[in-house]
Amino acid sequence: MSRVLVINAGSSSLKYQLLDPATGEVAAAGLVERIGEEGSTLRHTVGESVLRRAVPIPDAAEAFAQLSAAFAEAGPDLQAQPPVAVGHRVVHGGTRFSAATVIDDDVLATLEDLTPLAPLHNPANVVGIRAARAAFPELPQIAVFDTAFHRTLPPAAYTYAVPKQWREDYSVRRYGFHGTSHEYVSRRVQSLLGRDDVATVVLHLGNGCSACAVLDGQSIETSMGLTPLEGLVMGTRCGDIDPAIPFHLARVAGLSVADLDTALNKQSGLKGLAGDNDFRAVVELADAGDADAIAAIDVVVHRLIKYIGAYAAVMGRLDAIAFTGGIGEHNPALRAAVLSRLAVFGVAVDEAANAAPAAGERLVTGPGSRVSAYVIPTNEELQIARECVALLSR
Ligand code: ADP
Repeated sequence: MSRVLVINAGSSSLKYQLLDPATGEVAAAGLVERIGEEGSTLRHTVGESVLRRAVPIPDAAEAFAQLSAAFAEAGPDLQAQPPVAVGHRVVHGGTRFSAATVIDDDVLATLEDLTPLAPLHNPANVVGIRAARAAFPELPQIAVFDTAFHRTLPPAAYTYAVPKQWREDYSVRRYGFHGTSHEYVSRRVQSLLGRDDVATVVLHLGNGCSACAVLDGQSIETSMGLTPLEGLVMGTRCGDIDPAIPFHLARVAGLSVADLDTALNKQSGLKGLAGDNDFRAVVELADAGDADAIAAIDVVVHRLIKYIGAYAAVMGRLDAIAFTGGIGEHNPALRAAVLSRLAVFGVAVDEAANAAPAAGERLVTGPGSRVSAYVIPTNEELQIARECVALLSR
């Protein structure tokens, strides 16, 4: 059995899974939280049993030490049965990386050079890779990029109408993110429909949100851009705005570049509209009659419909819509609000199927619907593990 240890290193957390890419079976999963903060914890789950540790974890190196200790104590034994690779989720691959890549010193140096493109994400990924290499020096370490699935975007979709020098000297273009999720979910749609020539809009709706137009298995348009700030309304990110809004605020309110960066990345989206970045909390407020929360959900739905319509036009047809991510998977009201406004495409939602308290993959449109809408729980870890073994077998 060849298992892969998949690592998703954030700025203060580290998620991991040891899984079998052939079967998807998860041998162990864990989460290290509050790294470098007060009250850091580790949770390591093997089947039904959960190991919890509340210990100081000042940095990624200690996170790996604790993770290794958890495997030694609660299993599976990584010494007796080592994984074939450690797969790392890396947010930004820039123009240099368009596929999974074995990490050596050169690759690591290039990843560090990409920091200006993804200052909020890539540094944490790189710290995680360094710590993993030190903890598991004998294993191949592989980077799997959030941007890679979007390597097939045509120039018309990835080009911004900005000065040539920005595009050529500063790598300014649309890259797109959540690629691992969009790839996994769109492949599942192909499999459920039993054919590859499918025009799908995938809606990944979590804390970060993005839409992707997947035509015959290839990403041809996506809503995030140079950074994960563009596109849909997110938990704390604004998504699309007039690019002149920051200049206006700089002039009328004296905001600095740093102020604007923080405001648009951390204080906008649902938080800016409704005061809370968590969609569940916004729904509760709306249900209680809160006018801001009701308006926030209207903005979210409007933006989604706009993107679906645009992507159907770009693809020339629309066969399927797939909802994934925490919100997409768990909020039937949002799915119903979106789908019920897509009658122009022949979408006929199955209210009962959509509202059923089910888990797992499911169809939420009725038999007469010209477009099939699905809920598909994403599985980025499985996709990363598969890409690792595919790369190793080449
Ligand atoms: P991330 O993008 O960090 O992976 P998730 O995919 O877990 O995040 O999505 C987080 C979002 O999903 C939050 O806005 C949360 O409110 C929402 N969410 C999670 N579970 C539910 C649920 N049962 N009902 C409605 N929303 C949910």
